[in-house]
Amino acid sequence: MAAPEDLAFFESLLGRDGVVTDEQDRRRFETAARYGSGVAAAVIRPRTTQEVSASVGHCVRRRLPFLPQSANTGLVLGSTPDPTGREIIISLERLREPLAVSRDDRTVVVGAGVRLSDLNKALEPHGLMLPIDLAADPMVGGMIATNTGGARFVRYGGMRRHTLGLEVVLADEQGSLLQLGRGLRKDNSQLDLLDLFVGSCGALGVITLATLEVRHRPAQRAAVLIVPRDDDACLEILHQVEAGAGDFLSAFEGMYQGAMRIAFGRFPALRNPFAGAEAPYFAILAEFATGLEPSLLPLDAVVRDTIERIARDDANRRRALWASRTPLGHPPQSLRRSARCWGGDRPGPFISPRSGVPLSPRDRRRPHPVVSRGGALRLRTRRRWRGSF
Ligand SMILES: Cc1cc2nc3c(=O)[nH]c(=O)nc-3n(C[C@H](O)[C@H](O)[C@H](O)COP(=O)(O)OP(=O)(O)OC[C@H]3O[C@@H](n4cnc5c(N)ncnc54)[C@H](O)[C@@H]3O)c2cc1C
Repeated sequence: MAAPEDLAFFESLLGRDGVVTDEQDRRRFETAARYGSGVAAAVIRPRTTQEVSASVGHCVRRRLPFLPQSANTGLVLGSTPDPTGREIIISLERLREPLAVSRDDRTVVVGAGVRLSDLNKALEPHGLMLPIDLAADPMVGGMIATNTGGARFVRYGGMRRHTLGLEVVLADEQGSLLQLGRGLRKDNSQLDLLDLFVGSCGALGVITLATLEVRHRPAQRAAVLIVPRDDDACLEILHQVEAGAGDFLSAFEGMYQGAMRIAFGRFPALRNPFAGAEAPYFAILAEFATGLEPSLLPLDAVVRDTIERIARDDANRRRALWASRTPLGHPPQSLRRSARCWGGDRPGPFISPRSGVPLSPRDRRRPHPVVSRGGALRLRTRRRWRGSF
């Protein structure tokens, strides 16, 4: 527990509701989203940059260890205190202002405590979005501090690519304020120190405000579920999808059988795309998006063509490999004379004849073809229109 004189200082600065000492009330700040927990000396909840600055300055002068915390969705124990009960959590959840959208600049100036979901709600009426998409709902400060990536990283990159300006409170006795970047895409007027703070996990200071570049919302989206034959096929599929429809690719993520099983089992509202059958060992969810209207570019058709071409090429390659295997299985005299030949029933991963049979865990290492019904890639396309993000 923090010393009475420190608690008195924080209460006079932040008000009674700005300081959390009760064990029950501290719990949500001390417990991580997935792994571990710790014990805090106190949780303080400033509302403004000036309050953050005064709080940090006090901690430094009094040699009190402190820890900035946003939505506490981090997965690596960075946002929760250690078990000693000495660390003060500075929660940024009340820094929810401003949230000022500039359509002309395609930027937003936003407080560090604004949630990703709230930010995207505010951007939607302007036809804009912050295209970071993940299964949690973090806050802007935490996302910058961890350089959050997410499912659409393949297209849009992480927070580093979107951060154009920062306001930071440094960990010194004055709680000095630093303004980094001015919201410009190119700014050579001073040394670019902004990038140092992106991904620094609070080691260099506390982020209180950011200017972010945002994107136009796409007019169309299409999603495809691909069942790769085996692990090795995944990168080849990515390579070919990028080569064929890379301009539109917006997400490329893998899902293991265990995860899909839990999802379909626990959430009956989810539709099992494998026609009610057991999920395969591994599936790839690829998403495509474009700002073009369907009348100019039918995205669904482009995606379908691309994926079917990849499947056709794969089938041809398999046929060619099988063709080369046959003489090896029954080598003619000439071949027998020129090389030693082995025959076997386990063909290599790219020449498996197996056809879309759902894999059990024991099948894991067995070859599994991309191609299933009638030679066509097993795929589901789903079209999502404007506003469904
Ligand atoms: C279900 C789930 C899925 C996830 N998926 C992804 C994913 O796909 N990609 C990905 O990159 N991450 C993912 N994460 C991890 C996590 O969501 C991100 O790291 C997140 O962006 C952290 O933001 P936060 O607001 O929760 O920060 P917190 O967890 O509160 O803090 C994270 C770190 O940043 C520091 N920090 C927080 N706020 C500030 C601030 N204002 N100034 C300085 N330092 C600060 C903290 O001290 C801590 O070290 C996922 C997490 C969950 C639970």
